Amino acid sequence: MTKRHLMGQLLRLVPFGISRGLRQLHRGRFLTVLTYHRVLDKPADFPFDEDLISVSSAQFRQHLDFVTKHYDLYEFRMLREYMEKYGHIPSKALIITFDDGYRDNYEVAWPILKEYGIPATMFATAGFIGKRRMFWWDKIAYMIKTSEKNIIDSGPPTGISIDISRFVDRQDAARHVIKNVKHFREEEKEELISILSDQLEVTIDENDHELTMTWQQLRELGDNGIEIGAHSINHPIFSNIDEERLKDEVSGAKRMIEENTGREVITFGSPGRGILTDEERAKFDRNLMGIVAECGYSFSTLYRWGLGYENSFNPYRVPRVSIESHDSASIFGVKLAYPELLTY
Ligand SMILES: [Zn+2]
Repeated sequence: MTKRHLMGQLLRLVPFGISRGLRQLHRGRFLTVLTYHRVLDKPADFPFDEDLISVSSAQFRQHLDFVTKHYDLYEFRMLREYMEKYGHIPSKALIITFDDGYRDNYEVAWPILKEYGIPATMFATAGFIGKRRMFWWDKIAYMIKTSEKNIIDSGPPTGISIDISRFVDRQDAARHVIKNVKHFREEEKEELISILSDQLEVTIDENDHELTMTWQQLRELGDNGIEIGAHSINHPIFSNIDEERLKDEVSGAKRMIEENTGREVITFGSPGRGILTDEERAKFDRNLMGIVAECGYSFSTLYRWGLGYENSFNPYRVPRVSIESHDSASIFGVKLAYPELLTY
C-alpha cells in the first residue's frame, strides 16, 4: 500500500460533508474546479498518449454520482451571473472542465453529462477544431508506440538519447520524452518531432486521425448547456513561445471560437507551460493574466492546484484539481476534500 493510498484510506473515514463543512467554517467559501482531458474506455493497442485519458466512462459516472450528491454544478458563465447577483462565490459550487477539445468529450462525456443534466466547461484548442491535427504529445506517443525501432539519439540541442526497450513499456518511454520536451523552445520541439520520425521510421499522416471535435459538435454542445472556453489556437508549450505569439494564441482563440459558435467566450483555460524557476514562473503568470484580461475574458485557469477560496479569489487565476485515471474512487473523494494534501 502506498503512502498516498494509505492516507486516502484514512481520510475517507471522515464523512465528506463534515470535512467540507469544517473547511468552509475555517477558511470561508470556496470554489472547486475539476480538470479532465479525455474520457475514454481505452481500446487495446491505443497508439496515442495514455496519460491524457483522465477517466473511463464508468469512472466518469462514479465521479458524477459523487459530485451531484455533494455539490451544485456550475460553469463559469453561471458563476459570473451568480457572483454579479449575490457578490460572493456560491457555497458548494463545483465546475467540471475538459481541456483540449478531444472528440471523446463530445462522444463519451457529453451523453453522460446530459444524462445527469449537469453543465460543464470545455476548453477547445481552436486551431484543432474541425481539422485533422494531432497534438504534439500524441505525435510523440504515436511514433514511439507504433515503431519497431528502439533507439532515439536526437543530438544537440535537444539531446534525447534513450533505448526504448529499457523502459517499462513504450508509453513509459513516450512519457519520458514528452516530459523532457517541456524544456525546449517551440522550434526545437518541432525539430525533435521530425528527428523522431526519421529515427523511428514512422511517418504520421494527420489526415488518418480524427482526434478533435468539429465546429458543428462544439456548436451543439454550446446550444445544450456546455460552456465553450478557449485553450489557445495551437497548444504550444505556453512559456516557450515569444510574447507576440502568446498574445495571438490567447486573443485569436477567443475570436475563432466566437466566430464559429456565435457565442461569447469568457473563460480561458491555459495550456501547459514549460520548465521555469519560481521567479520566472511568477513573472510569466503575471504577464499571462494581464494578456487574458486585456483580451476580454472574465476568467482563466492558470497553473494552480487546489481550491479557489473566496477571500483570495482571483478570477484570472482560478485553481483546479486535476483528475487522473489512476485515482481510485476513494482517492477521488479525498482529493476533493483535501486537494492540498494530494499534489503531484
Ligand atoms: Zn491542454
